[in-house]
Amino acid sequence: MRKDDCIFCRIANGEIPSRTLFEDDQFRVILDLGPAARGHALILPKEHYDDLFGIPEDTAADAMRLAKRMAAKIAGALSADGFNLVQNNGEAAGQTVRHFHMHLIPRYRGDGQTIGWTPGEPSAEELDETLKLLQ
Ligand code: AMP
Ligand code: ZN
Repeated sequence: MRKDDCIFCRIANGEIPSRTLFEDDQFRVILDLGPAARGHALILPKEHYDDLFGIPEDTAADAMRLAKRMAAKIAGALSADGFNLVQNNGEAAGQTVRHFHMHLIPRYRGDGQTIGWTPGEPSAEELDETLKLLQ
């Protein structure tokens, strides 16, 4: 299903022009307008899913296969030194557009970007408690 009021649905399906690197029947890969680094691209499914929790497993697998191919292409073309794959779900996790997407971010030595977190320092008991909840 596609959502009329979703900007990524409209971009993915070609209703709004975008700088498209790749397109097939399932996905469009576009340049991010606010890139973290040169060549930052987004994989957009043409169908609307809010996030990872809503996307079918097969589509998720296809998106990851495409991410691998696009990462090699982008990193090679731009001589990147590294690469981040980022995928945000929910406002608390930094998702600003509620249409599942994967960030493909080529990285360059000294590019000054920080994509990461401050490591916590949980006790062994806290880790064990968390593990119990997750097993
Ligand atoms: P997120 O914060 O994970 O939801 O990422 C949304 C991303 O979409 C950001 O990196 C934005 O720069 C990017 N973005 C938003 N609108 C557009 C647009 N019209 N075309 C290309 N990229 C966009
Ligand atoms: Zn959408």
